[in-house]
Amino acid sequence: AKKQGKNRFYWFEPNMESELRFRNELEAGIRRGIQNGEFVPYYEQQVDLETGDVVGFEMLARWESPELGMVGPDIFIPIAEEMGVIAELSEGLIERAFEDAREWHPDITLSVNISPVQMRDPWFAQKLLKLLVKHRFPANRLDIEITETCLHENIGMVRSMITSLRNQGVKVSLDDFGTGYSSLSQLRSLPFDQLKIDRSFISELKNEDQSDKLVDAIVSMGDGLKMPITAEGIEDEKVLNALKRWGKMRGQGYFYGKPEPASAVTKRLAAAGRL
Ligand code: C2E
Ligand code: CA
Ligand code: CA
Ligand code: CA
Repeated sequence: AKKQGKNRFYWFEPNMESELRFRNELEAGIRRGIQNGEFVPYYEQQVDLETGDVVGFEMLARWESPELGMVGPDIFIPIAEEMGVIAELSEGLIERAFEDAREWHPDITLSVNISPVQMRDPWFAQKLLKLLVKHRFPANRLDIEITETCLHENIGMVRSMITSLRNQGVKVSLDDFGTGYSSLSQLRSLPFDQLKIDRSFISELKNEDQSDKLVDAIVSMGDGLKMPITAEGIEDEKVLNALKRWGKMRGQGYFYGKPEPASAVTKRLAAAGRL
């Protein structure tokens, strides 16, 4: 096709072909990476804004690819979802995270992000509880973060899944809150333990404008529903001080620290006497 089709195909064929080849290589790399344990958990601190104490860590996936270097989740999670390997990938990371977090002080929680694709599996809760037992990890130290996207699908199933996880002691948080379309009545019928305000609202706080009112609305919604709030994406002291006006809250962001591997977490906790 290269020689005789030159006139007809020249303009688009080379591009499409290389894009397809790259995608195929990426998929093969992800499959290999799962087999070889190239997907590793990083951790971001979650802090009590009043006291400054570390209260938990959010696990964030990273891919240490031998070919591509360090790859972020925004690249490989959507592909793993399409390939149908997200559950396998995520379970491997969760198992590693349980082992890491077992070393930390028992008051420190572990948050993990769960894809909407995983939430479609009617056995998801059972699988997760099995992993808790296997690693002897206390259910009440685990917090799963799900996004509003999950709620558009089978809300009845999601509700019963959340309920059975919570009955076992697992905490369930609504992630990226404010970016989706969940209504107040929908939220009232869903027993979340916590709301996480999306970073887009938080980073705007220093520009003393409408963002104040948005955060205000979100916080009073959380208060009304009796759900504690975590602010994500706190990048500097200005934002932190602005947030303190709302009183008791958890927070996380680059101001406190970027996501880091388990070894760095251990060092940090040892220095703070919280291992
Ligand atoms: P997310 O759950 O909203 O996670 C927060 C993202 O914001 C992380 O990016 C984190 O590194 C970044 N971040 C934290 N603090 C700051 C800050 O102060 N400023 C800025 N600019 N960014 C900050 P990351 O690690 O690239 O993760 C992106 C998304 O990938 C996550 O968003 C989450 O939805 C998804 N993700 C990560 N790990 C997993 C996983 O194991 N499973 C699933 N299903 N999704 C995951
Ligand atoms: Ca999250
Ligand atoms: Ca988030
Ligand atoms: Ca996000």
